[in-house]
Amino acid sequence: MPSTTSFTVNGRTYRPPAVPIVVICLDGCANEYLDAALLRGRMPNLSRMILSGWRGLARAAMPTFTNVNNTSIVTGRPPSVHGIGGNFFYDTHSGEEVMMNSSRFVRVETIFPSAAKAGRKVAVVTAKEKLRDIFAAGLITEGGIAFSSEKAADAVKETHGIGGVTEIVGPKPEIYSGDASVYVLKAGVALLERGMADFLYLSTTDFMQHKYAPEAEEILDFHAQIDAELGRLLELGAVVGFTADHGMNAKQKADGSPNVIYLESELVEQFGEGFRVILPITDPYVVHHGALGSFAQVHVPEHVSITEVQAWIQAKQGVTECHDRETAARLMELPSDRMGDLVVASGRDVVLGRTPEHHDLGALEGGLRSHGGRYEEMVPLIFSRPLSLEHAALAAGDPRNFDIFDFTINGTR
Ligand code: ZN
Ligand code: ZN
Repeated sequence: MPSTTSFTVNGRTYRPPAVPIVVICLDGCANEYLDAALLRGRMPNLSRMILSGWRGLARAAMPTFTNVNNTSIVTGRPPSVHGIGGNFFYDTHSGEEVMMNSSRFVRVETIFPSAAKAGRKVAVVTAKEKLRDIFAAGLITEGGIAFSSEKAADAVKETHGIGGVTEIVGPKPEIYSGDASVYVLKAGVALLERGMADFLYLSTTDFMQHKYAPEAEEILDFHAQIDAELGRLLELGAVVGFTADHGMNAKQKADGSPNVIYLESELVEQFGEGFRVILPITDPYVVHHGALGSFAQVHVPEHVSITEVQAWIQAKQGVTECHDRETAARLMELPSDRMGDLVVASGRDVVLGRTPEHHDLGALEGGLRSHGGRYEEMVPLIFSRPLSLEHAALAAGDPRNFDIFDFTINGTR
């Protein structure tokens, strides 16, 4: 019987029910993807889950990127508190662009070590290795499990809390595939079945969503596979909470070419040298998005007026907002010490780039679909059980995707 001992993390108390708890973050799952699959009868288990449980929308953290939102989900707090405002930030002291895919950049603890201390068998499975370090912080020494499908074959007991993953779950999938994500859910099923875990966080990768629009046959097949694993998790008696880190939209012109504002080039042309545009979507997985997203941080050189630059950017077609650091930190709940002078977000079909030379558009297979701005902010929020009156009232307000553990653990009946 799973432990019902309560635990408190980052100001929130969790009172787990005596059943397995599974939270799924389906990376890049805009609501349209679920509708396309549900309407075609490709997700019968999700359909049943919605009918007996609850379905709505939640607001993600800005910028709508993977690391930002996954870190929010596992800590239950916004980026202003946990410190991860993107994959990258520019350290003005050292003059270096710093990649934040390590737990040493996270300023608060995740809920996992406390859940493990409270007697839960915690397992965290992610598709991309880049997130594992953040998820695993403090967990392995408490007896928990954390591994990625990308490096499933390398998981060992000492550092991952588990060895022989490929024998338990199956052969390691290719990272640029839908299988990398299905594998995450398969792993969850295998761990639950074997009694190796009863408190799971399963976080996939958005390779398929970057590549395919909601109605594409390939992604309908993908969602059918996800649904089959979801069905197994429900059969095993788990209460399941389902959300996404961000949505996904086509970012291209009518002719299919990427719709890019090369912000650094344009700023240099307008105001002179010295600008640095940071694109916090940048990561080693360029096939997904060519480092193009709908969000940028701008470092303005000293000889140029920040307010003048702000007004100029704000007037640009395709830009939805441009805030100074303090305003952006407040409105978007961002860590002000890891930001530029200005924060820019772009429209549903527009991405922000640095210079044309900086982006390898050839690496993009097919069209450009991406995320990062406001239009990828609203994501699915689904539970396998009905919500309590209190949480139903909260859900009718402005629920956040990073409230998912609170809702799943404390809010389902
Ligand atoms: Zn993502
Ligand atoms: Zn992405």
